[in-house]
Amino acid sequence: MAWDFSTEPEFQEQLDWVEQFCREEIEPLDLVFPGAVRSRDPKVKALVDPLKQQVKDRGLWALFLDPELGGPGLGQLKLALINEILGRYGSAPAIFGTAAPDTGNMELLAAYGTEEQKERWLYPLMNQEIWSAYSMTEPQGGSDPDLFKTHAVRDGEEWVINGEKWFTSAGRAADILFVMCTNGIFIVPRTTPGVEIMDVPSTHNHIRYNDVRVPLDHLLGPEDGAKVLAQRRLGGGRIHHAMRTIAQCKRAFDMMCERALSRESHGKVIADHQMVQQAIADSYVEIQQLRLMVLWTAWTIDNSSTQAARTQIAACKFTCAKVLRDVSYRAMHMLGSLGTTNLTPLQAMWAGAPTMSVADGVDELHKVTVARNVLKGYKPHEGLWPTEYFPAKREAARKKFADVLASEPVLATYAERAERFAAR
Ligand SMILES: Cc1cc2nc3c(=O)[nH]c(=O)nc-3n(C[C@H](O)[C@H](O)[C@H](O)COP(=O)(O)OP(=O)(O)OC[C@H]3O[C@@H](n4cnc5c(N)ncnc54)[C@H](O)[C@@H]3O)c2cc1C
Repeated sequence: MAWDFSTEPEFQEQLDWVEQFCREEIEPLDLVFPGAVRSRDPKVKALVDPLKQQVKDRGLWALFLDPELGGPGLGQLKLALINEILGRYGSAPAIFGTAAPDTGNMELLAAYGTEEQKERWLYPLMNQEIWSAYSMTEPQGGSDPDLFKTHAVRDGEEWVINGEKWFTSAGRAADILFVMCTNGIFIVPRTTPGVEIMDVPSTHNHIRYNDVRVPLDHLLGPEDGAKVLAQRRLGGGRIHHAMRTIAQCKRAFDMMCERALSRESHGKVIADHQMVQQAIADSYVEIQQLRLMVLWTAWTIDNSSTQAARTQIAACKFTCAKVLRDVSYRAMHMLGSLGTTNLTPLQAMWAGAPTMSVADGVDELHKVTVARNVLKGYKPHEGLWPTEYFPAKREAARKKFADVLASEPVLATYAERAERFAAR
């Protein structure tokens, strides 16, 4: 029997260490020095770098990469169990060397980069000596690649890129931009002449690429390979987001339960009021359902491929946003007026749920993927009636018992009565 929901004791020890390290080291850093993890100020780095070193010493740096690329090669299932912890603490993914959007970009470099490209960009990204951004979405076309216009034209020993991108996360702070053109993905240093970053939005940037020239070796993977590379990148990213969302949901749930046991109303703690119990029970089940789906998807990727788990990844993508929305809303509600302030993480969590429904492709697209792929396992019924139409099934079943029904009048009467009863 291969189904096993237990965690090996040695790995549980790692998980316990991660939990304690995040709670005791990362959370205080986030509360006092928010954003410290991406700072280039030597004084701030002196606070952050020793934490990264502890992660490296523990063999947990760049969790998502295979050993030959410098990661521990844990696989997706173990990564899911760790991400369930990291997702609770803002800068934990970066301190473990697994922060988006760099992770997806590193995965692309690892899979499609030449040795020279890996030397130049992958290893510095892994060591967080440089940062990157992913420039795919376009203002007129969202994330539909068939509507993209950004294009690269070869001119001698250079590619010349023209186009406009929207919502490139952390583009302004990145050293290199992975730019998805209609004819390939190109790595563009941010300071290249012609890269124009608009003032707004401030975090997720609107960028114009005006006659941006890069050498030929800045094309990543094959020419015209943009769609294939983008799919690979986004598939991994989506499931990692879902893993970290479980942490957010659990955090809201913990707050909900603590409050339920702490607050009294009308002569009893609110945990004794049935509607509060319903909120807790519904939230518990929804989080567990999401968690099982995410772990099953991670297991599927480990045992086959990201491509084989496409339907599951799409299902996790839109479900995690929904569960986060519902659970954080209930938790906020249970904290009453305090829940509506920014004095706890709940309001930001709840406000973040719609963002999650849009980022990495809108939920509608993922629902379409799930429905289309699931329907491939079905075909239309033959004739007028659905397969489960009882009269037709019963008629077929009667043929199986034809001899008995002909030779045993008592059984024939039994069957006729049952049929009349069923037809009422
Ligand atoms: C926090 C965040 C970070 C992001 N980071 C990046 C990044 O680093 N790089 C990058 O390139 N992009 C990034 N994006 C952009 C993201 O990929 C797009 O927002 C997303 O793909 C949707 O595109 P859009 O915003 O133009 O929405 P639209 O495509 O305009 O969609 C708006 C609405 O229209 C409807 N709709 C659209 N298409 C369909 C459809 N096919 N079927 C049914 N209904 C549909 C849906 O209701 C949808 O919510 C990020 C987005 C967010 C929110």
